[in-house]
Amino acid sequence: MADVTADGGGADVLRGQGCAVILLGPPGAGKGTQAQRIAQRYLLPHLSTGDMFRDHIQRGTDLGRKAKPLMERGELVPDAIVLGMVEDRISQPDCERGFVFDGFPRTIQQADDLEGICKRHKLGFTIVLYLVVNPELLVRRLTGRRICKASGHIYNVYERPPKREGFCDLDGSELIHRADDSEAVIGERLSAYDRQTQPLVEYYKLRGLLSSVDAMAEADTVTKSIVGILDGAKAF
Ligand code: ADP
Repeated sequence: MADVTADGGGADVLRGQGCAVILLGPPGAGKGTQAQRIAQRYLLPHLSTGDMFRDHIQRGTDLGRKAKPLMERGELVPDAIVLGMVEDRISQPDCERGFVFDGFPRTIQQADDLEGICKRHKLGFTIVLYLVVNPELLVRRLTGRRICKASGHIYNVYERPPKREGFCDLDGSELIHRADDSEAVIGERLSAYDRQTQPLVEYYKLRGLLSSVDAMAEADTVTKSIVGILDGAKAF
């Protein structure tokens, strides 16, 4: 197995063809952690719609003001808002050779629109990695999640704790606990996932684009499985 931690270790494989990598799975499945690693290895931008919204909220934009109350309740932001934001982002030059989506698409409408976007951007292929995790583990992962304020690096106090409690190993910045990672909001996020996002599994399966990944294992093992799938995608 190739060194899965090497930056740019698989750059030629996906960028050469122009590839949309989509991470699909419930909140807490590990999409953010794995997306960071894939982006680093294949030199593709990591596009997290959740992070984009949080950035808008922090900057106090109109879009942020619309998204904030919905996110606080664990509901999805309307498709039209998400799609406008995504189109803007992937029109930037760093997305020409592809991207890694984390948290998008989340509805059938978003998936239909993404198909059009990929055609317009002449991306060679789409690959959907479905991270499969049982529901009990999700709650533990979400309540234990801590995120570096500066770098966005993700920890988990149960599974992958930082060396010094509350601070990032990489740059010493403070770790934050997202407000929507509280038990009160997690239930609504999981049920929004079941209603609106889970149908995408069948949607992508029917199109032959879905690869399921056992995401119950620890993060490095999951990364190895994903790298195996993506390196093999060369043969598509
Ligand atoms: P998670 O995947 O762990 O739930 P995210 O950071 O991806 O967390 O998303 C946080 C919130 O942002 C969601 O609960 C939702 O309100 C909003 N959001 C993110 N991506 C989308 C999307 N593609 N469509 C609609 N709402 C979204």
